[in-house]
Amino acid sequence: MEGVITLVPIGTVAEDLLSHVESALREIFQRRVEVADPLPHPDYAYNQQRQQYLAGAVLTRLRKSGAKGERVLGIVDEDLYTPDLNFVFGQAALGGREAVIALPRLRQSFYGLPEEDELFLERAVKEAVHELGHTYGLGHCPDARCVMHFSNSLHDTDFKSRNFCAACRRYLPRLVSS
Ligand SMILES: [Zn+2]
Ligand SMILES: [Zn+2]
Repeated sequence: MEGVITLVPIGTVAEDLLSHVESALREIFQRRVEVADPLPHPDYAYNQQRQQYLAGAVLTRLRKSGAKGERVLGIVDEDLYTPDLNFVFGQAALGGREAVIALPRLRQSFYGLPEEDELFLERAVKEAVHELGHTYGLGHCPDARCVMHFSNSLHDTDFKSRNFCAACRRYLPRLVSS
């Protein structure tokens, strides 16, 4: 399926979040975006000690799931980690086909603050675009407003935009119209 970005809910993911990300990706990548049937909750990736889910295991399962699409983005509402990091907002193989984003830390309520739905949705879009950008071969960008800027914290995420800077966009000429 050339030119299709497939969103794959992993476990339970809210409908409004999915449709919000779907339409944002369609606009930003100028691609068809489809939502696939959900994959099961990622119990296989759970680390009892850390009470988190191993991002690499989720990515591997996504790769083997048979999900079709030029790119496949998994969305999971569980906290992800990698062996060398306390947590990750998402993970992608550079130049690979699959990526995954994790939702819990994008919510204000995770930090004991009142929920802000719009902020949560916008953060999810930025993380989705960022991880997909990696799959299209982009590395991290020094421009703090560019969606490919590395987010050390949500402060960075909130500061950057959902869009690629001019330099990053040049790497995606067929994908993103300016
Ligand atoms: Zn990144
Ligand atoms: Zn950039």
